[in-house]
Amino acid sequence: ERRALTRLRHEPTRTRDGIDVRLYANAESREDVANAHALGAAGVGLYRTEFLFLQRPQLPDEDEQFRAYRDVVLGMSGRPVTIRTLDLGADKADETGLALRDEPNPALGLRGVRLSLARGALFDTQLRAILRASAYGPVRILVPMVACAEEVHAVKARVARVAEALRAEGEAIAPHVPLGVMIEVPAAALALPAFVDEVDFLSLGTNDLVQYLLAADRNNEALSDLYTPLHPAIVRLLHGVIRLAHRRGKPVQVCGEMAGEPLFAPLLLTLGLTEFSLHPGRLLEVRRRIRDLDLGRLRQRRNALLRGRDRAQLEAWLAAADAA
Ligand code: PEP
Ligand code: MG
Repeated sequence: ERRALTRLRHEPTRTRDGIDVRLYANAESREDVANAHALGAAGVGLYRTEFLFLQRPQLPDEDEQFRAYRDVVLGMSGRPVTIRTLDLGADKADETGLALRDEPNPALGLRGVRLSLARGALFDTQLRAILRASAYGPVRILVPMVACAEEVHAVKARVARVAEALRAEGEAIAPHVPLGVMIEVPAAALALPAFVDEVDFLSLGTNDLVQYLLAADRNNEALSDLYTPLHPAIVRLLHGVIRLAHRRGKPVQVCGEMAGEPLFAPLLLTLGLTEFSLHPGRLLEVRRRIRDLDLGRLRQRRNALLRGRDRAQLEAWLAAADAA
């Protein structure tokens, strides 16, 4: 069983009817990056930079961050690396040197892009480090927790200013570093037409999207039955985002844990997704699942998926995916 999986390292991620799917890795450590490379990931689709800031009393400076990001880029030897800007909030206040104020609702608080925009110097330092790393291989910038077009405008203006300053200093940076946003706040998914043309790509963060759309804390065990992507509202929102992204020619990936669950692969493929970013430990299992699926036949059942009224119907739809 393990050996059969291991053999898939060198096989393409292709459905039975010949549709290629790109599997990127989620990574937050050197080991993740090494594993991603060894398992044949298409790149790093989500590099979580938080770990650089955790469990230490002082902030990492620009050079420390630059070295960390550059090493990820070099470690992937030319495959694209998507670096997410800092996604921290008051729930991690004690673990960082950020001096965050306690909040009653950290999940709804000053976190992600909100924190970055509130602490401009911190954000600029990170952007400088990421842009400098772009001289070493293909890099994309991904912004977490975006809720509105104003945040997209503010981030773009900062990135442009930082890039200009680096060029003026004679630093080598890539001519164009694509900028994307996480779609994980329901408002961003619903207001996507307002800013989709201003970003280069989208990444669906289903961990938070499920949490916020269903008003169910992702860490609350008492709600584990409710906390699931198998809800018609989630399916409908994912479908709408993916369809709009494709119409506007914007690449879209899913990077929540959902992407690493082989069970959900037929659902995501049927909604039109061909880019997944997942924990490297799940990569081969998901590859195996995708290789067993026939996308043409799944698509014939797309309307049934979109009509699923409750969890039981969506589970039944998934269970029938093999028969398809
Ligand atoms: C998500 O919310 O789905 C996501 C990928 O980000 P994180 O799990 O880091 O919040
Ligand atoms: Mg998230």
